[in-house]
Amino acid sequence: MNRCKFLIVAAFSLVLLTCTICSQAQQEQPGPGAKPATVMPDVIAVPPAAQPSSHFDVEAATNAYLDAIPPTARSKSDAYFEGGYWLILWDFLYAAIMYFLLLHFRWSAMMRNLAERITRFKPLQTAIYIVEFLVITTVLGAPLAIYEGYIRERQYGLATQTFGPWMREQFQMLVVNIVISAIVAMVLFAIVRRLPRTWWIGGAAVSMCFLVILVMIGPVFLVPIFNKVTVLNDPRITQPILSMARANGIPAEKVYQIDASRQTTRMSANVSGFGSTMRITLNDNLLRRGSPEEIQSVMGHEMGHYVLHHIPKDVLYFSVVIVIFFACLRWLLERALARWGERWQIRDVGDTAVLPLVLLLGSVFGFVYTPFFNTHVRTSEYEADLYGLNASRQPDGFAQAAIHLGEYRKMNPGPIEEWIFFDHPSGRNRINAAMRWKAENLQLFTPKTGQ
Ligand SMILES: [Zn+2]
Repeated sequence: MNRCKFLIVAAFSLVLLTCTICSQAQQEQPGPGAKPATVMPDVIAVPPAAQPSSHFDVEAATNAYLDAIPPTARSKSDAYFEGGYWLILWDFLYAAIMYFLLLHFRWSAMMRNLAERITRFKPLQTAIYIVEFLVITTVLGAPLAIYEGYIRERQYGLATQTFGPWMREQFQMLVVNIVISAIVAMVLFAIVRRLPRTWWIGGAAVSMCFLVILVMIGPVFLVPIFNKVTVLNDPRITQPILSMARANGIPAEKVYQIDASRQTTRMSANVSGFGSTMRITLNDNLLRRGSPEEIQSVMGHEMGHYVLHHIPKDVLYFSVVIVIFFACLRWLLERALARWGERWQIRDVGDTAVLPLVLLLGSVFGFVYTPFFNTHVRTSEYEADLYGLNASRQPDGFAQAAIHLGEYRKMNPGPIEEWIFFDHPSGRNRINAAMRWKAENLQLFTPKTGQ
């Protein structure tokens, strides 16, 4: 959506990403007069085929859970999710064309000239250019951003905001974007100007540092701009969670709650931050709609991310990606500027007017990288799923969470579809993993007799 790019996108997604075992949902709000528009069931009873028995069958239990989803709800979430496949393409093309136009009509060069007329101080010129660039690209990108972020979310009953508050938030995001991007750009361009040959190594190193800083400050400084985060103090919910945390060697004393219902109906929880800012947060939709078993299974999953060090590992992984990107960038920029630099009035790599070209190449890189990114994240998510099942011992709670998630994510995709587009295991695979776990632990669910 918002078009501030390269590492910022990666970093931001890391901050928020980290996991997000979302489950969306609802319509069946507890409030009086609420209309059930999404017909996904709120409470999913354990189907007969998933009840513990001597003839427990993993496939039959999985299918029984899948059958609990009304066909209308399934076709709706399939349509929403499959529409997202096309949006990946439209987002890419839209951004690429926008960056190309900025180069082709020399708007980028004009923005640089304006910045140079305002001040002679180079870093300030870079900052002014970033302001111009982000304002213009946000305006140009608004039609698609509004459709994707507002209209479509409303159509599928996932958004809770009206247009005014949504727009206000977009504006706040733009301001945050400008501040962070200006700082990053000032540092990166200073490096490029100082190290004309080896800038890509320095640039990659500094980008990694920014990545770590952003992941670290995200939960403490960025998230609270948009949402209220509070310490959850309902012992009925926190007690089993903290007990599970202690059992798994997690030094958590607090569980956080976020008022995600301000923006969305999706249920979610996440682990975010780095080092001392690492924390586990539950969103209020999950707290309101999820059964205790479901909440515990989700928290087990989040603790999996924590114990398996997914955030530090992701930072390391994306650092490698950043280095590869910078190496490609150097090679491509030199060739592109030799060929079209004069026509676009870009002087060299250290000229801020080069930014649309950098982002154009970044968009291509990101587009091609999509399935690999998704597969990396999905693999971690699957690890966290298995960890969560072992930690929480709530396979039915986890199946419920997977179904709630299925309100905005296709439940039963083909294997190639899952490989390309899914950043979490599909609902079917998650329920299947839960039932497989249950089949091997049936004694936990069978009432004890004769004692
Ligand atoms: Zn996760």
